[in-house]
Amino acid sequence: MRDHPRGFLEDWCARLDGGPYPAYRDLRGRFELDGMTLEVLRVQPDPFAGPSRLRLLVPYAGTGLPPAIGRLDGGAGTAVPGIVDPGSARALGWRDWIGRRIRERLEREGGGSLRIEAGGQEILDRSSVLLRQSHLELRLDVDLPARGRRILGREAAHRLVRLPERLRTECLSREAIDPESVRVHLACTEDFSSLQAELERNGWLAFVADGARLARFAGNDDRPLAGADVVPFLSPPSLRQTVRLPHAGAVSGMVVEPGVTLLCGGGFHGKSTLLRALAAGVHPHRPGDGRELTATRPDAVSVRAEDGRAVSAVDLRPFLRELPLGRPVDRFRTENASGSTSQAAAILEAVQGGSRFLLFDEDTSATNFMIRDGLMARLVARDEEPITPFLERARTLSEALGVSSILVIGGSGEYFRVADRVLVLNTFRPTDRTEEARRIAAERPSAPSDAEGAALLRRAVDPDQPRLPPPAREGTRLRADGARRLRVGGDLLDLEAIESLRDPAQGRFLAAVLARWGREHSRMEAGTLGGVRTPSGLERWYLEAWRGARLDGFFESEPRGDRAAVRFADLLAAVNRLRSTGGGSE
Ligand code: ADP
Ligand code: MG
Repeated sequence: MRDHPRGFLEDWCARLDGGPYPAYRDLRGRFELDGMTLEVLRVQPDPFAGPSRLRLLVPYAGTGLPPAIGRLDGGAGTAVPGIVDPGSARALGWRDWIGRRIRERLEREGGGSLRIEAGGQEILDRSSVLLRQSHLELRLDVDLPARGRRILGREAAHRLVRLPERLRTECLSREAIDPESVRVHLACTEDFSSLQAELERNGWLAFVADGARLARFAGNDDRPLAGADVVPFLSPPSLRQTVRLPHAGAVSGMVVEPGVTLLCGGGFHGKSTLLRALAAGVHPHRPGDGRELTATRPDAVSVRAEDGRAVSAVDLRPFLRELPLGRPVDRFRTENASGSTSQAAAILEAVQGGSRFLLFDEDTSATNFMIRDGLMARLVARDEEPITPFLERARTLSEALGVSSILVIGGSGEYFRVADRVLVLNTFRPTDRTEEARRIAAERPSAPSDAEGAALLRRAVDPDQPRLPPPAREGTRLRADGARRLRVGGDLLDLEAIESLRDPAQGRFLAAVLARWGREHSRMEAGTLGGVRTPSGLERWYLEAWRGARLDGFFESEPRGDRAAVRFADLLAAVNRLRSTGGGSE
C-alpha cells in the first residue's frame, strides 16, 4: 500500500474533480491526515456498486482516550467468540461506546455517506472498532461521490479528509469525551459479565434484576417500551437473591435455578416477554435498555418448532420410536421436518453442542411434541403414538444429563408433574406457586427420570458422532441477508429460529465462518483436523480459527467493519440447518 503525506489527499481530490469515476481506483493507499492515518482498502468500481471501505488509525496520544485501553484484552475480539468474558468486558465497553459516538456524529452530518456499524440494543463484539496497542482502529464504509459518472472532488475531500478529522476532534478529544457516559457504558458490560460469572459461581441459570424493564416497544422494534404503564420487574421473595456487582453494587433479583421451571399465567400477562428477556440475557445490553442487569448462562438456547427445516443426521430415538415406511430413526434425516421432529432435533442438537439450558415458549412449540394429556393417552395408546413428548423426558434431561429447561405453558397443567418450580405471571410479575401446583399434581402420576430414557438421550447427544451436514461446496457464494437468513448458492437458509442472532453483522460473520469451513473442509477430511463432521470437531476448529486473529480470523478479503461474533451454539445451529441440496457436497 502506498504512503502519502498530509495534504496529498485533498490536493488529489481537487485535481480529480470532474474526472471519470474509475479514476477513484488510484485512491487505494495510506494517507496521513491530521493526527491519524486513513487507509483506503477497497474502492467501488462505479457509483452504484457496494461501498468503498476505509480504515482510520487514530493514535491514542493526542486524544482523550486513555492509552491504557491499548493493553486491555479483548481489543480485537473477546477470548471466546460471542461470549463476554470478564477479561474482555472493559475493552468491549470502550469499543461499543466509541462506535456509538462515531455513528451518532456521522448521522448528524454526512447524510449517511460515511458510515460505521454500531449496533442496536445489544452490545456485540463487532469488527468496526478495534483497540490496538497504541492506536484506535475504526472501519468505515463510504460512498465515493459522483455526478453522473464524474468524480465530485470537493465532496470526496469532505468525506475522506474533513469528516474523519472532525470525528477525532468532536468525538475523541479530551473535551468531547463525557466521562460519565463512558462510565455508565463500561459499567454496563462489566456488570453484565460479572453477573454471568456470578451465575456460574452459584450454579444458577439466569438472573433478572428487580426494577428491570423487559417489555419491548413492538414485536419488530427491540427498543424498550416506555411510559407509565410499564411494570418494572419484581422477583418473588422465594427466588430472590442479592448479588454484588463491581459498579451497581448490591443488586437483588430473581434467580432461575437448575431444573425444570414453568412460566404459567393468563394470556397477555407477560410470559413470553420474560422468556424472551431470559433468551436475550446471553448478550449485554446498552445503557437504558431495561435489561442491563438481566443475564443468562452463555450456552442457553431457545428451541422451537420449525417445520420445513432440514435435519442432517439426528438420533431421534429419545423422542420418536419409529417413522412411517421404516425410515431410520437413529439417523433421522430430512429436507422437510415436521413441527415435532424439528423441535426434537433442535433439542438434541443444542445439547450435543454443550448447551445445558433450553428455553421453550408454547407460542412457538409443537403441541404434540410438548404434551400428551391423560385423555389423549386413553384414546391413543402408548404403542400407537410414536412420539414421546418432551414432558416425559424433561426430568431425565435434568437429572441424568444436567440439562435444565424453562417453559412457558399457559394452557396445560400436565407439566406440574415434572416441574421443580412453577411461576405464575400476573400483570407482568411472577409469583412462586410451586407448592400449590404440586398439590394439584399429586393426583396425577409423575413422569420421573428413567434409566432407559437416560440411555437413549446420552447416545443421542454424544458430541463425537459425525452428524453434521457437509459444508457448502468450495466456491459456493455465501451471503447474509439480515441477521437470520443466509443465501447459500441459490438456496435460502432460514435461521429465524436462532433467536440469539440479533444483528445483520452476525449474519455476515456467520457467512464468513461457513465459507471458511467449506474451504478448509477437504483438507480437514484428509485428516489434518479430523472429525470436523462432529459437533465437538466443529467446536475445536472454530475456537482454533478464532484464537489467531479473533474477529479478523474469517476474512477472505480486506478487513471489514461489518461483522460481529457469534457463539459456537449459534454457529452449530446454523450448520445443522444447512441443506445437503443446493451447494452442499457429500
Ligand atoms: P403472554 O405471553 O403472557 O401472553 P406477552 O409476554 O406476550 O404475554 O405480553 C403481552 C403484552 O404485554 C405485550 O404487548 C408486552 O409488550 C406487554 N408487556 C410485557 N411485559 C410488560 C410489562 N412489564 N409492563 C408493561 N407491558 C408489558
Ligand atoms: Mg406468549
